[in-house]
Amino acid sequence: MILTVTMNPSIDIAYQLDELRIDHAVRAKETLRTPGGKGLNVTRVLHTLHEDVCAAGLIGGNNGGFIKDRLKEAGIRFAFTEIKGETRCCIALLHEGKQTEVLEPGPEADASEYREFLKQFYTLSKDSACITISGSLPAGIPDHCYADLISAAAINGVPVVLDCSGNALKKALAADHKPYAIKPNTDELAELLGRQVTKDTSSLKAALLSPLFDGIHWIIVSLGKDGCFAKHDNTFYQVRVPQIHAVSPVGSGDSMVAGIASALARNMNDEGLLKHANTLGMLNAMQKQTGCVNLKDYDALYQLIEIRKA
Ligand code: ADP
Repeated sequence: MILTVTMNPSIDIAYQLDELRIDHAVRAKETLRTPGGKGLNVTRVLHTLHEDVCAAGLIGGNNGGFIKDRLKEAGIRFAFTEIKGETRCCIALLHEGKQTEVLEPGPEADASEYREFLKQFYTLSKDSACITISGSLPAGIPDHCYADLISAAAINGVPVVLDCSGNALKKALAADHKPYAIKPNTDELAELLGRQVTKDTSSLKAALLSPLFDGIHWIIVSLGKDGCFAKHDNTFYQVRVPQIHAVSPVGSGDSMVAGIASALARNMNDEGLLKHANTLGMLNAMQKQTGCVNLKDYDALYQLIEIRKA
């Protein structure tokens, strides 16, 4: 089983508007409500790949109930820890080809809810071939949460793919037990290193050789339409992807995380892992919905990916 962790899930609400007029009432032409949060995007893509996936994290209130109902309808397994607070909503206003977002902070979890989650996570990790951890932490959950989860997974020898930023990432990188794989983009790398990181091979190589990343087996830097740059132990890879008709790249990084996890669970070799992950990123970018891939174009795109050692 692949376990996905979403500590601060949301109902993502997208309103399609003709135009956004500030200080005016605007009518939505269309409303779309979907389970959201980066980890649930990863979950959906893994489910589409027919992986045995289970979603964990914190959930609460009527919004939490909505998310569980939608997952049930889709046939996606979950084992969330219930909290007293109400799961958040994140609103996207789609207008004139632009996207304006309102992100609620989410509920505050308390110490006993966190302890309960850690217990559930430890039990679930025993049955996991791979674990993904994505996104932000809600209030009340300590910065070292992801470091704690990675240590707990290490007891059972389960590799963790970590996709987060800020203090939670810094704490996880500084801990004794390291994530098996991380998937930063260049902005996240720059924030971590405190200096600019460009898409140049030399800049990326220098960044990934930072002692900050010692002990992490896979670092995959997603580069949007330029593919990705990766380091597996001591080998660097430059991955070029074909030109596609991109509709919305939101969630492409999460789709890539799903690909990395599924490749690790299936013991794919380096070329297989990189092609699988990038193909899923591209397939997501070709869809309007977030964390959604249509596998009909999988083989054609997969064949067009070029990988060379850098
Ligand atoms: P993130 O969400 O982490 O910033 P990216 O936007 O870099 O992720 O996308 C992740 C992956 O999805 C890329 O590495 C690439 O394989 C694919 N991808 C995303 N956007 C495009 C695009 N416009 N054209 C081709 N591939 C894309």
